[in-house]
Amino acid sequence: MTDHIPTSSTRRSRPDLWRLLLLPLALLLANGSLDAQGMVDIDPRIQEIVAEISEENLEHLVTGMASFETRNTMSSVDDPDRGIGAAREWMVEELAGYSPRLQVGLDCYDVVASGRITRDVEICNVKAVLPGRTERRIYVSGHYDSVAQVPPGAEDDYPEHDNFAPGANDDASGTAVAMELARVLSQSGLEFDATLVFIGFAGEEQGLFGARLHAKRALDEGIQIDAVFNNDIVGNIRAGDGQINGTAVQVFAPGPDDSPARTLARYAYRFGKAYMPHHDIRLVGREDRFGRGGDHTPFNYWGFAAVRFTEIMENYARQHTVEDTVDGVYFPYLARNARVNAGGVASLALAPAAPEVDNPNGQPRLTRGESRYAAHLEWDPSPGAASYRIFIRDGWSMDWQQVYDVGNVTEFTFEGLSIDEHYFGVAAVGPDGHESLASPYDRPHRVIEEVETR
Ligand SMILES: [Zn+2]
Repeated sequence: MTDHIPTSSTRRSRPDLWRLLLLPLALLLANGSLDAQGMVDIDPRIQEIVAEISEENLEHLVTGMASFETRNTMSSVDDPDRGIGAAREWMVEELAGYSPRLQVGLDCYDVVASGRITRDVEICNVKAVLPGRTERRIYVSGHYDSVAQVPPGAEDDYPEHDNFAPGANDDASGTAVAMELARVLSQSGLEFDATLVFIGFAGEEQGLFGARLHAKRALDEGIQIDAVFNNDIVGNIRAGDGQINGTAVQVFAPGPDDSPARTLARYAYRFGKAYMPHHDIRLVGREDRFGRGGDHTPFNYWGFAAVRFTEIMENYARQHTVEDTVDGVYFPYLARNARVNAGGVASLALAPAAPEVDNPNGQPRLTRGESRYAAHLEWDPSPGAASYRIFIRDGWSMDWQQVYDVGNVTEFTFEGLSIDEHYFGVAAVGPDGHESLASPYDRPHRVIEEVETR
């Protein structure tokens, strides 16, 4: 066992007084996640994938989608130049041109009128699948539908479904990230362990319809979705109040602490940062921006791991309005966010599956060991794993603080380490150093029954 945490060991070697003085400063500078950056194996092939992300192609994709004037879910499907039908046909053609390895098509559902879906409509997601060695899936997504409010009093002239709604940033930007990753990953020549799915959802603006339908069908059909990297509003750098920031992105992940979404967020940080160390990835421990929603939510609701990427500087005047035009998207920034996605997605897709840590009764195999004062962890071997990595954080921390390579074993004991004071996770590592998600040793909440009284 080796401890590869330079910041911690440096601290340990200082006199106690200095340690006391320096520790809070070090924690402040550490941005919460620095310690767990230890032990990342950089793969030059992933560096190439990240470098291959093209600002020009992202601009081509956003401009192309915006050129259909509206992609409202209830807009025309017959008009060859305008509306969601023409837009999705164009997207299918683009994706099909990237690589013969991509299986491109529509994923359609007949939806009856309800709420903001004002008439029966066929909702079609645009999907490109890059088959991997296994069936388990990793998603990169955005929503390609758009919406724009109609000026008050003009409702009869411009019904909402036909109003000009370029949706360049919301969310051609996120859909372009998914499509650009489809291009670079399908053209990389790499054989991935996981099957990659690049998807543009529809019906998001009326209530996440495309994502809800797709996620529920995956649940019903027993499809294993290991991760959803959802990108929604990821290309603007100027907030409406004048602030500008083109070097940071937010990643939203709802709790509890060891939820699938948080596990994925920690991973997206770790490997996004490994390949884009100069981009500020800000994890936020909530479902979404306050009072807002997105397509990652139905996936989390049905037990899959899904996070949302969103720009740090939103301009509300240019969302859901006729002002959401291509000139509001800054392509160097959109490319940086796409590269953060690519680092995480490629790493995860090349890695073996995360190990199973629960016993058949659903209880995590974490005990106090033979001494009764140790942390003893067990897990099942993961197909294709060459070794395992254990992550530890203390009982009141959001991010992993320590990481240990423990070799090709399926149990490990830390003598004297409290399992009450710490949280644990274990990841499988493939022969080329690619790391899986860290399976958390998390106990479900205890069920408390009401006491009957008279
Ligand atoms: Zn959106």
